[in-house]
Amino acid sequence: MESQIKITKTSNSGLKDIDFDNIPLGTVFTDHMFVCDYENGAWQNPRIEPLKLIPTHPAAMALHYGQAIFEGMKATVGKDNTPLLFRPEENAKRFNHSAARMGMPQVSETLFVEAVKRIVGVEHAWIPPQDGSALYLRPFMYADEPFIGMRAATSYKFIVICSPAGPFFTKKIKLYAETEFIRAANGGTGEAKAAGNYAAAILPTEKAKAKGYDQVLWLDANEHKYVQEVGTMNIFFKVNGRFITPSTDGSILKGITRDSVITLLKDKGFEVEERPITIDEVVQFSKEGMLEEAFGTGTAVAIAMVEAIGYKDEVITLPQENPVSHDMKTTLDEIKTQKREDQHGWIVPVPIEEKVGS
Ligand SMILES: *Cc1c(COP(=O)(O)O)cnc(C)c1O
Repeated sequence: MESQIKITKTSNSGLKDIDFDNIPLGTVFTDHMFVCDYENGAWQNPRIEPLKLIPTHPAAMALHYGQAIFEGMKATVGKDNTPLLFRPEENAKRFNHSAARMGMPQVSETLFVEAVKRIVGVEHAWIPPQDGSALYLRPFMYADEPFIGMRAATSYKFIVICSPAGPFFTKKIKLYAETEFIRAANGGTGEAKAAGNYAAAILPTEKAKAKGYDQVLWLDANEHKYVQEVGTMNIFFKVNGRFITPSTDGSILKGITRDSVITLLKDKGFEVEERPITIDEVVQFSKEGMLEEAFGTGTAVAIAMVEAIGYKDEVITLPQENPVSHDMKTTLDEIKTQKREDQHGWIVPVPIEEKVGS
């Protein structure tokens, strides 16, 4: 596929206007995007071209029926300025898992990984070298067939855009355990990174923010009892020296950071239990003084330390010190910038595209 990706470069880069020390959140995009069209049952015309608006028919099915999925990944720079990706084949697999659930076509893992590698190769100068900064990559797919009616679309676009991201604020977060709204039920789309999941989370999140919290801690759909996850993060609790994280039961997004952190915690000799955990257990652990740390894991922030959890009329307050959370954050950062040995083969170097295309 590599040789088939046609690259057209812009003659007018926006890079000179960016201050890497002050990157606004989510509003700056690089010069180019990767685009591929799904037509007649196959992915066609993979290309990297200057970022531009995409003409969309008002009947494009994604706008009406929500066939839209995405991924989130980060490119960093390692030794000798080599651009690096972190476990990109895992994102490719999850993209296809999401696509399958939403009745959308598969993208070969080779095409997905090639697409992200090549766009990073073109945009490597946009990777902020500052500690904790990265080039955020947003691969996504949506149904662009103009059709009014309920069935799977027959045409789609697979696009990758890139946005430089400064170090995410390291402020600790306050979570609101939600007992009215739900994120995902068994059999639903919770395990897919489907656009609609996030639309449904907006109102509950705004309500939680109005109560003074940062994010929603989702509980299960049946009983509002079992802890699921947070916004765009999975959740870990350190209880009496060991870790507990909810098992992925079909309604929890299988985070790649979650999987990586489980491995890193085990490397450090910690026990990690993946099991259903109720919010009442968390309250009880806290009351007994056994709740030592809690953190969220996700590509955007890596590790977000939890300061407090509101549940009904109670507020669970976490201890000030978060030694293991800090250690996990540092370890992940250092692996992603080759300051620490990559013992698990997670890092994928990206060749830089020199003087290609027009
Ligand atoms: C993306 C996401 C995560 C984290 O996944 P990573 O692969 O670690 O970035 C967790 N939960 C939800 C709901 C997400 O969308």
